[in-house]
Amino acid sequence: MSQIQLLPAVEKFLSQPGRLFIGGTWQDAAGGRRFAVENPASESSVAEVAEGDERDVDAAVAAARAAFTGPWAQHSPAQRGLLLFRLAELLDQHREELAQLITLENGKPIANARGEAASAANIIRYFAGWPTKIEGSTHPVSPASGAPMLNYTVREPVGVCALIVPWNFPLTMCVWKLGPVLATGCVAVLKPAEQTPLVAIRLVQLIEAAGFPAGVVNLVTGLGAHTGAPLAGHADVDKIAFTGSTQVGRLIAQAATGNMKKVSLELGGKSPNIILPDADIVRAAKGAADGIFYNQGQVCTAGSRLYVHASVLDQVLEELQRHAAAHVLGPGLDPANSMGPLVSARQLGSVRGYLQRGQEEGAELICGGDRPAHLERGHFIQPSVFLDRAERACVAREEIFGPVLTVMSWTEVDELVLRANDSPYGLAAGLWTRDLRSAHRVAAQLKAGSVWINCWNVVDPASPFGGYKQSGWGREMSKNVIDAYTETKSVFVDLA
Ligand code: ADP
Repeated sequence: MSQIQLLPAVEKFLSQPGRLFIGGTWQDAAGGRRFAVENPASESSVAEVAEGDERDVDAAVAAARAAFTGPWAQHSPAQRGLLLFRLAELLDQHREELAQLITLENGKPIANARGEAASAANIIRYFAGWPTKIEGSTHPVSPASGAPMLNYTVREPVGVCALIVPWNFPLTMCVWKLGPVLATGCVAVLKPAEQTPLVAIRLVQLIEAAGFPAGVVNLVTGLGAHTGAPLAGHADVDKIAFTGSTQVGRLIAQAATGNMKKVSLELGGKSPNIILPDADIVRAAKGAADGIFYNQGQVCTAGSRLYVHASVLDQVLEELQRHAAAHVLGPGLDPANSMGPLVSARQLGSVRGYLQRGQEEGAELICGGDRPAHLERGHFIQPSVFLDRAERACVAREEIFGPVLTVMSWTEVDELVLRANDSPYGLAAGLWTRDLRSAHRVAAQLKAGSVWINCWNVVDPASPFGGYKQSGWGREMSKNVIDAYTETKSVFVDLA
């Protein structure tokens, strides 16, 4: 097969430089600078985008504040819901455009990008139902004076939210945060990753077309140090929601203390996936392979540590090699390819470094290990599997963010649970078994925000998502995220 034809709308979009969106106006960066967006499959530039700096961040925050206290506050919950439903319709109508932009800048196979675009509409539709259901409560208080007292709570929007997102799911990460912002009546300054600003720009164009008032959503594209950092430290930002590396998450948390912003963080992981001896081994091995190879392994919830019961180790290793070999690597725009490139040269360098260090530190390379020889250009890496009996190599302990699986074996379940939990991270965990009792017993002991039993990477807007330990603060999606974007006001009324 060959690469799909880009839609005329996508060609046109790419021919114009991407601009900032501040207070309802598309504009160049104050400093006039731009940066190039690379197609990681071809290593060529696909578009140019405005490179914002502190001045643009200031303007965007001011525009957001003006919208928050002005026109947006006049919108009823039902009106906010209607606008979100309209946005979901537009996301559906422009699904293929969004998918092509995702593949162009991120590299993932077009089928996966189409899935991401389709799910974006569903996520926004889920949040469209929320504005009319954000309720307070009444409380049976007992004042010492004995005076009759009414006490009730109301939930109010937090205010100006800085949304800093990564490149691995460039559309999903935006809508996970914009959904609750718009449902609760907050306003946003969105800062996409420098590797993947294009789909964010198209999304904001659709937000504008849906009819949200000027200033409700502002977009500042640019580099982490020059746009993300001033946004994280800005004195008039009320909340920051960040998804990315634990290293940058730490900087964000520190920057937020200046004015005590509310902070939610979705960070890294090194998630344990466990195969019990009674599992459907064929299904478990396929789940384990998908759990690490999906999205080229660039997933915070990647099942990167696989604990296999010693009695089925050989069979699982064989299956894993089969799945790795079945992947067809190549540009994501060719539907025949099931695995695209990593997002950047830097990411490729980092993953190759781990592949080398893993072997030096005693892990046995079962398959993969380097770039595919037949692809000269692009940041491609083979799906790779290590066996690390000692469980001491860096590949068994550190987040790699690439298609690299490290397999360990186990024999005794209590010890296994200790090993699975022995990580600074706690984002996800999974297990494969046919036994209901083992499933729930082990699930109860795993220190992870998501536990998947006989499945992996299932996420749903109705279910909370987030991490224990150094994997983050707070939860995204579900009612939990509505709480995270609202303040609770407790009102006492003396009825005497
Ligand atoms: P990765 O290492 O996977 O590229 P990062 O955590 O560096 O992920 O980036 C996630 C997001 O954080 C991106 O939008 C990036 O521009 C932004 N970012 C990077 N450094 C900073 C910083 N110092 N302050 C605020 N945002 C930053």
